[in-house]
Amino acid sequence: MPEKVVIIGSGPAGWSAAIYAARANLNPLVFEGTFQDHMRPLGQLAYTTEVENYPGFPFGNVRKFVETAVDKDRHSGLPPAPDHMKDGEYHYAVQGIELVELMKQQALNFGTRVISDDIVDVDFESTPMRVIPANGDPVETHTIIIATGARANYLGLESEEKYKNKGVSACAVCDGALPVFWNKEVAVVGGGDTAVEEASYLANLKTCKKVYMLVRRDEMRASQIMQKRAMDHPKIEILWNTVVEEVLGEVHADSGMELVSGLKVKSTKDDSVSQLDVGGMFVAIGHTPNTSFLSGKLETNDKGYLIWTQAFRTNTSVEGVYAAGDVADDYYRQAVTSAGTGCMAALDVERYLAEKGLE
Ligand SMILES: Cc1cc2nc3c(=O)[nH]c(=O)nc-3n(C[C@H](O)[C@H](O)[C@H](O)COP(=O)(O)OP(=O)(O)OC[C@H]3O[C@@H](n4cnc5c(N)ncnc54)[C@H](O)[C@@H]3O)c2cc1C
Repeated sequence: MPEKVVIIGSGPAGWSAAIYAARANLNPLVFEGTFQDHMRPLGQLAYTTEVENYPGFPFGNVRKFVETAVDKDRHSGLPPAPDHMKDGEYHYAVQGIELVELMKQQALNFGTRVISDDIVDVDFESTPMRVIPANGDPVETHTIIIATGARANYLGLESEEKYKNKGVSACAVCDGALPVFWNKEVAVVGGGDTAVEEASYLANLKTCKKVYMLVRRDEMRASQIMQKRAMDHPKIEILWNTVVEEVLGEVHADSGMELVSGLKVKSTKDDSVSQLDVGGMFVAIGHTPNTSFLSGKLETNDKGYLIWTQAFRTNTSVEGVYAAGDVADDYYRQAVTSAGTGCMAALDVERYLAEKGLE
């Protein structure tokens, strides 16, 4: 028997779709992916620490809740609780892995089946359609939800890797307001519209002292209006012809943590090297949507993101195939928006199956 719905991807979009599909008795099958090429099961949130902007998770004794909700055999994969104590108990905002484990648990509780494998190919021509995993037999299915997300591009420096979550971030909206950046000067790397968005967001935070924008050339790729926004902002200084050579760090007196303390930067004009004393580096050089397994079988925009072919629907260019989350969103890229479109995709699938008499 073909599956009613196969969901590819295990971030907020995939689990949200699974929760809705499972509760609608569609018996969803999720391919959650494996660790490879800057991707991992549970998605991008698994690369971050505290998530302060996902509704429903204010500061609290999160760990107690997570441990009661999530199956015991997955507790060993949880990160240690951050060391913020209140009245003798851990007190913090939910961490990325905890949040997605909770989503996964909610999907499992309603009967979602999960396979830990990557989908490497799809066949939309056959009826029913087929998804082809790396290590198992092809699976036939009436509908597919693609929720494979995107991955942030980084500079590729060893020191950048070392200081991720310790002052290096690829998302100012997500991380800029975290205490680790309070009262510090920070740098944004990149010269496109997104880089200006990120720099402006940071500069407008009361907690941020100043933002340096590090632009590789003597001009920006950003639109004129965005460039003006950056140039006119009293808290943004643009450093032209500048690239990062190394992220520097030191042990922080209060927390004992090793955090970013500066950047070794190089001039692309005369190769001179200098040090920029900043407490954070936000990399804003784009994202790569995870669509290579589709080999061009679905319409994408010029950046490679899947296109929703109808307004307020998650339909793609192939009937019965839906897209949710960051793989189809190069604009908002947040956990809550991904979960929202995951819900939409499951509802779209439910209605499609009902119309076709396949439910
Ligand atoms: C460092 C960092 C911090 C962030 N902080 C926040 C924050 O505080 N708040 C917030 O709202 N957002 C935050 N975000 C953004 C948020 O993580 C994303 O918007 C969200 O995770 C997107 O969800 P998604 O389900 O669309 O995709 P993803 O989370 O990207 O998940 C996609 C999943 O699909 C899997 N996959 C990919 N290809 C295949 C395949 N072929 N077969 C099977 N599986 C596959 C991947 O391995 C991955 O597990 C942050 C992002 C980063 C990188």
